[in-house]
Amino acid sequence: MALAKTGALSSLLFSRYPGYRSWSLVQSRVIFANVSADSLITVSYIIIFCCLAWIARKLKLLDSFGGYQRIFVFLGVFILAVGFTHVMDMLTIWWPTYPHATTVKMLCAAASLLMALLLARETPTLARRCGHCSSAELDADRSRAEQNLATAYAQLNSVLESAPDAVIKIDREWTLVYGNRKALSGLPDFVLGKNYWECFGEVRGTPLEEMLRNAMERQTEAAYEIFYEPYQKWYQGHIRPAGDGLSIFFSDITAAKVLKAELEQSRYLKEKRIEALSHMAGGLAHEINNPLAIIYAKANDLVKAASVAEVLPAAEVRRVGEIIIRTSDRAIRILRGLKGFARDADEDPMETASVYEIVDQCLELQGSRFERRKVELRVDLKADLPYLECRETQIGQIITNLLNNAFDAIVQGKSEERWVQLSAARRGGWLDVDVADSGPGIDVKVKDHLMEAFITTKPAGQGIGIGLSLSSAIALEHGGTLSLRTDTPHTCFRLTLPVAAAVQITGQEESQS
Ligand code: ADP
Repeated sequence: MALAKTGALSSLLFSRYPGYRSWSLVQSRVIFANVSADSLITVSYIIIFCCLAWIARKLKLLDSFGGYQRIFVFLGVFILAVGFTHVMDMLTIWWPTYPHATTVKMLCAAASLLMALLLARETPTLARRCGHCSSAELDADRSRAEQNLATAYAQLNSVLESAPDAVIKIDREWTLVYGNRKALSGLPDFVLGKNYWECFGEVRGTPLEEMLRNAMERQTEAAYEIFYEPYQKWYQGHIRPAGDGLSIFFSDITAAKVLKAELEQSRYLKEKRIEALSHMAGGLAHEINNPLAIIYAKANDLVKAASVAEVLPAAEVRRVGEIIIRTSDRAIRILRGLKGFARDADEDPMETASVYEIVDQCLELQGSRFERRKVELRVDLKADLPYLECRETQIGQIITNLLNNAFDAIVQGKSEERWVQLSAARRGGWLDVDVADSGPGIDVKVKDHLMEAFITTKPAGQGIGIGLSLSSAIALEHGGTLSLRTDTPHTCFRLTLPVAAAVQITGQEESQS
């Protein structure tokens, strides 16, 4: 019996059955069609298997669908098994191994059945997972998602609100759709929901307008620095494309700008002081030497006279003594003026000062230089000049600069007429100080840029071109101006300074008394 069974099985497995080829010899087209179809099916199944395996790996489906890995594994086996049955179908055309083909088919049937059963069991759960779940579950999912969204929004908002920079967001229609706390407090014209150009119209026509429009159109980044006239403030910012518009991050840099300008001005003042000192150095020895020589000679005369006569005539002693006092006073004034010039006056407080005294000190320092080069110094100070509320040293610097320039113009221009005129007069609440000269006039090359720094026509070592720019800055700082007059036949610079109200009264009182 057992033998008979074994025989039946081996005959089933190993007896040679005629292949399809033998009974369809005459139908070679049918064979061809079968083989082609089977090949295509096999190749397609292999491709499908590979693609599904790749997708599952890439999307980490086996991880995220924890617990459902079996389905994917069976799906793979099922696809491969079905493909393999078609391989066997092809083989049996030439090598009729029906038993093997049958085994493969049975395996395929088992995999298919298992796959079907598994799917039937898991489909409801899978469907729920994929979203086809009950409305209660759907609501729970939605509220969880909303909660997550709200948390993320709150976090993002707290970051933006605590940012040191102001942040605003503009949509494609230029509507202001967001502004953080810093933006709202720093921009009084910011109105949420309003058009950007309506709120910040003054940006029109500035380089920032072009930048913003370019950035919006091309969705590119840009950085800017702008002085916004209505707020009188400097801003530095970055424009970033934001998909549906632009984000602008900016900060108020006015304080930094002012500090920088102050530092630059103080640096200029120092340079100018050094330049003026070096300008003066040559004449200085002469300025001090002269009075000293006079004092020495006069004191010597007195000693000599005292050694020959017991008693000196009082009138002679007074005369010589007065000369010594006057001359030493002159030397003291020169030194005082020089001390003031060398000192940094930026930090000096504004004080009430007499124009006569300021001018006097400047002339003390210049006088002999003019004399030596035969330049006549004409001084015309009106009698009722007011007192000024100013930094005396700085106003002295301006007048000295103007006198130096006038002197240089005459000496370097080799003018026949050689005079410089310094005049001062009051004009209502203002004081005008004019410095005119008989020099050849302003060089056309520099005429339009006189008040700019580092503009000079003087030979190297004699001028660095900051005198006028610095003087103009000081005048502005005092609420006044420095300008080149255009209504005079000769070169003439005018310094105009305001006379403070309280000081005007003092000046008037003094002039009346
Ligand atoms: P610097 O004296 O170092 O050149 P300034 O700023 O004082 O610098 O003057 C700039 C230039 O203005 C001078 O180089 C000169 O060309 C011109 N300038 C100023 N004052 C006069 C003047 N009175 N006559 C002719 N040119 C002048």
